[in-house]
Amino acid sequence: RAKSLGKGRICAFDRFLDQQVRTRRRLEEELRGAVEAGELFLLYQPIVDGATAETRGYEALLRWRHPTYGVLSPAVFIAAAEESGSIVEIGKWVLGEACRQAASWNNRLFVAVNVSTRQLLGVDLVDHVDTALKSNRLSPDRLELEITETSLLEDRADVAGCLEALKSLGVNLVMDDYGTGYSQMSNLRRYPFDKVKIDRSFVAALGEDPVAEIIIESALALGKSLGLTVVVEGIETEEQRAQLSGKSPDLLQGFLFGRPETIPFPIASSQNVIHLPQALKPAFTLA
Ligand code: C2E
Ligand code: MG
Ligand code: MG
Ligand code: MG
Repeated sequence: RAKSLGKGRICAFDRFLDQQVRTRRRLEEELRGAVEAGELFLLYQPIVDGATAETRGYEALLRWRHPTYGVLSPAVFIAAAEESGSIVEIGKWVLGEACRQAASWNNRLFVAVNVSTRQLLGVDLVDHVDTALKSNRLSPDRLELEITETSLLEDRADVAGCLEALKSLGVNLVMDDYGTGYSQMSNLRRYPFDKVKIDRSFVAALGEDPVAEIIIESALALGKSLGLTVVVEGIETEEQRAQLSGKSPDLLQGFLFGRPETIPFPIASSQNVIHLPQALKPAFTLA
C-alpha cells in the first residue's frame, strides 16, 4: 500500500514539476513580447534624507502588467528574464524609461535603477546607459545603478572593467542588499562604489535579533570610513526609524516614507510637487 501511495505521489509530483516548467516557459515567452507590447511600467519609491526625511531621489521599481495574471512584481519574473536573456532588452527599456522620467523632475533628485547580473556581464550595458543619459539629456550624476552584491561574487576582471567604465560615464554605483551575500567588504574595496544600501532584513529584525543591530552599526561605520553614502532600506515603522536615528544613516528608504508608486508628474523644477488626484491613481499599484 505504501508503495502504491508513494508512486501516486511521485506521479503527482511529476505533473506538478511539468506544470511548473511549462508555466516558466510560457512566462519566458510572454516576457519576450512584454516590452514591445507596452506591458512594463515603473513605480518610484522615495529615498529620503536620514536626518530631515526630505526626498533626495527615487528608486525605479519594475512592474509587468500581465494580460491575464494582472500586475506582477519583479520577484516573480526577473529570474526568468535573466535565464531567457530577455533581461537585456528589459533592462535597456528600464534605463531609458527611468532616465526619460527623471529628466522632467527637479534636477536635485536622483533616480536609482536596478541592474541585474546578466546585464552587468553583458557587453551592452555601458552603451545602454550612455544612450539613455544622452538621449534624455540627463546629467550622469543624477543616475545611480543598484547592483545586488551576489553578482559580484567572484573577482572578475570583466565586472571590474564594466564598473570602471560606468563610473567614467559619471554615474553613481550602489551596492544593493548589503549584508546578504559573501565577501561584501572586499567587494566594497575592489569596486568603485559610491553608496551602500543595507538590506531590509536587518531593519526587519531590529529589536528581536541583537546581531541585526550590530550589523547595521558596523555597516554604517565601514561605509563612512570608506567615504561611502550609506542607505538603510525597509523602514516601515516610526519605531524602526527611532532605533536608527542615533546611528546617523545618510539616507533612508521604506514604506514609512513612501511606497513604490506612479510618480506625480511633473515633480516640478519649481519645487512645487503636484500631487496626482487620488482618483487618478491606479488601483493596481503593488508594493
Ligand atoms: P531591491 O532593489 O532591494 O528593491 C527593494 C524592494 O523592497 C522593492 O521590492 C520594494 O518594493 C521593497 N520595499 C521597499 N521598502 C520596503 C519596506 O519598507 N518594507 C518591505 N517589506 N519592502 C519594501 P520590489 O519592487 O518587489 O522589487 C524586488 C526586487 O526586484 C528589487 O529589490 C530588485 O532587486 C529587483 N528589481 C526591481 N526592479 C528591477 C529592474 O528594473 N531591473 C532588475 N534587474 N531588477 C529589478
Ligand atoms: Mg534596489
Ligand atoms: Mg535586491
Ligand atoms: Mg534591496
